[in-house]
Amino acid sequence: MATKETAQHELIKESLSKFLTKEVLPYIDQWEKDKYCSREIFQKMGEQGFFGVSFPEQYGGSGLDFWAAVAVSEVMAKFNMGGLGMSLYAHNFLPLPLILAVGTEEQKQKYLVPALKGEKIAALAITEPGAGSDVGGIKTTAVEKDDHYVINGSKMFITNGNIADFIVVVTKTGEGYDFTNFIFETHTPGFKSIEVKNKLGMHTSDTAQLFFDNCIVPKTQVLGQKSMGFYYIMNNLQEERLLAAVTATFAAEWALEKAILYSKEREAFGRPIGKFQVIRHKIAEMATKLEACKAITFRAVQDFIDNGAAAVKTITMAKAFTCHEAQLIIDEALQIHGGWGYMEDYGIARAFRDCRLLTIGAGTSEIMNEIISKIVIEEVKHKTVIDHR
Ligand SMILES: Cc1cc2nc3c(=O)[nH]c(=O)nc-3n(C[C@H](O)[C@H](O)[C@H](O)COP(=O)(O)OP(=O)(O)OC[C@H]3O[C@@H](n4cnc5c(N)ncnc54)[C@H](O)[C@@H]3O)c2cc1C
Repeated sequence: MATKETAQHELIKESLSKFLTKEVLPYIDQWEKDKYCSREIFQKMGEQGFFGVSFPEQYGGSGLDFWAAVAVSEVMAKFNMGGLGMSLYAHNFLPLPLILAVGTEEQKQKYLVPALKGEKIAALAITEPGAGSDVGGIKTTAVEKDDHYVINGSKMFITNGNIADFIVVVTKTGEGYDFTNFIFETHTPGFKSIEVKNKLGMHTSDTAQLFFDNCIVPKTQVLGQKSMGFYYIMNNLQEERLLAAVTATFAAEWALEKAILYSKEREAFGRPIGKFQVIRHKIAEMATKLEACKAITFRAVQDFIDNGAAAVKTITMAKAFTCHEAQLIIDEALQIHGGWGYMEDYGIARAFRDCRLLTIGAGTSEIMNEIISKIVIEEVKHKTVIDHR
């Protein structure tokens, strides 16, 4: 594959594959049926160092570059464990990079270090019942009083919200985009979480609605500077979206490979269905789409490594493109499996359910296209375009 491949990246992939084969694969079907999110897996992933691959060594990470995080996401996507994978990713790549970027040394020691070890579970709470895409429309407030803040409000669809030990909570502290983020400990009086049930997919992930009723939070829990929360969140979203693109790409690769294998073994009209040109052409189109997903994603990864959150154009394009294409590829993989694809037996049904979230979570495709259109329209303003009229 085209990502940066060093011996270390290969080692991560190999050891994570072994780990998931032993610790997840034998149980995942039952967990899916039970809609169970395993807390134990967080601890085991942490013990093995999988959360810390791209985090600095001083906080218990391995100090590798972002390609290492890509390697972890790639392997998880190829195990068709969308729900559990999302829970692990929502712990590892939503709140923790924010704490690393703007947290105090004390906060890093208290939250980042145990979270990378898998001893504490983390979540990030932005979305509310009345505000998702429109982040500026959130209503949860934090009011300053003496040496503390008082938080009131509610958050919706928060991954790991019921199992988290701490949650990075985004609040309003003033007019407009005056946002402040807090590291909120879930044992705080006045806090309650309830399970959000009836999800279409992602059954092995925990999803919660959160309630904050006059929760008193010491000022030491402010993450970064007061009133700067919105900008921190927007920067942090780049990493989240990039890994969503990686996940989409490799979930699609898994589905394509499954479809190819199935097309060789399934017979109809006296021959393997893979001998029919229609099926072969489907596979060709899926493979071409997948190649395009890899190209745009790897370009965005390198752009992110070189330019950080300024890589917004390539990351947003990669997120929008791969999430949409992955849904098409997985849908076609299900079609190639015929009626068996509709059953749970081959795993394709699970991938089909889970991948539906790709174009919604971490910013919807419509919002991605809004961002892309603003950037490219602005870029053309500064170009000389030959006009033949
Ligand atoms: C399983 C699951 C897990 C999640 N985990 C988390 C989490 O851990 N933390 C967290 O904070 N959030 C989480 N979310 C929330 C997720 O990020 C939001 O659902 C998403 O951002 C969309 O917000 P919304 O659901 O309020 O939809 P809305 O914003 O209400 O959008 C509804 C529709 O309108 C479209 N739309 C909105 N504005 C525009 C516009 N300006 N132009 C064009 N179209 C527009 C949208 O694209 C969408 O199609 C999760 C959601 C789910 C379902």
